[in-house]
Amino acid sequence: MQLKGKRAVVTGSTSGIGLGIAREMARAGASVVINSFTDAPEDHALAKDLAAETGADVRYMQADMSKPDQCRALIKQAGGCDILVNNAGIQHVARIEEFPVEKWDAIIAINLSSAFHTTAAALPGMYAAGWGRVVNIASAHGLTASPYKAAYVAAKHGVVGLTKTTALEAAGKGITCNAICPGYVLTPLVESQIPDQMKTHGMDRETVIREVMLTRQPSREFATVEQMGGTAVFLCSDAAAQITGTTISVDGGWTAL
Ligand code: NAD
Repeated sequence: MQLKGKRAVVTGSTSGIGLGIAREMARAGASVVINSFTDAPEDHALAKDLAAETGADVRYMQADMSKPDQCRALIKQAGGCDILVNNAGIQHVARIEEFPVEKWDAIIAINLSSAFHTTAAALPGMYAAGWGRVVNIASAHGLTASPYKAAYVAAKHGVVGLTKTTALEAAGKGITCNAICPGYVLTPLVESQIPDQMKTHGMDRETVIREVMLTRQPSREFATVEQMGGTAVFLCSDAAAQITGTTISVDGGWTAL
């Protein structure tokens, strides 16, 4: 139980990668706050289920990561945290000339600015404790670009920059900050796209995955939410105490190309 006694907050964690990370943190013994903006009965039930499954203290807290005051309030409501995982994120795909301004603003707010606000709120407690871990979920798109994803690519490159600055300011104080850069991860969102792609391309599941979805991922395999969770737990371990200000790609070789 390498994270016993540690308090983790994972933003945007009622599904996908955030949920995978929350689960691995709880399994490693941390008490965990999961978050989304919905505040639905299922969100609270999910926290209960995770607690029952892992034996950890897991609570759900509502906060809209597009709102600066709610980002900061989440950390306050959690009573501070030792581990902050900035995971909440959305995507929109369009040419720059046609990119809706409100989508640009929302992606920058949720994918980038939220990490600034939660980090600003969490650092004083980490400084006081002399220990802290900030794990930012960037993307292969924090290191490379694709067309039609201007806001996402800009936000994720911004997250990598914020990661470096946070690491420098906190260096030597027992606090590290790193970014995980996932390639294509098999989340429910991605899974739900497979049947449509099979129809569109007239291909079976395996061929669609290999030849359409994972063309930029040399392993031709999805990364998994469990692998994201394991990487995040590793970054919180003593073995990673001198790893700071860097990116860890979990992308099947995408960024090596
Ligand atoms: P997802 O849609 O399954 O989960 C996103 C989570 O964020 C959900 O819990 C959702 O409720 C929450 N969220 C969305 N808007 C929010 C808001 N305004 N306030 C609070 N919570 C909000 O997505 P995912 O695929 O698990 O992605 C999680 C993170 O990983 C994102 O930052 C994404 O950019 C990044 N990522 C995903 C992939 C991938 O292939 N899935 C690859 C690289 C990076």
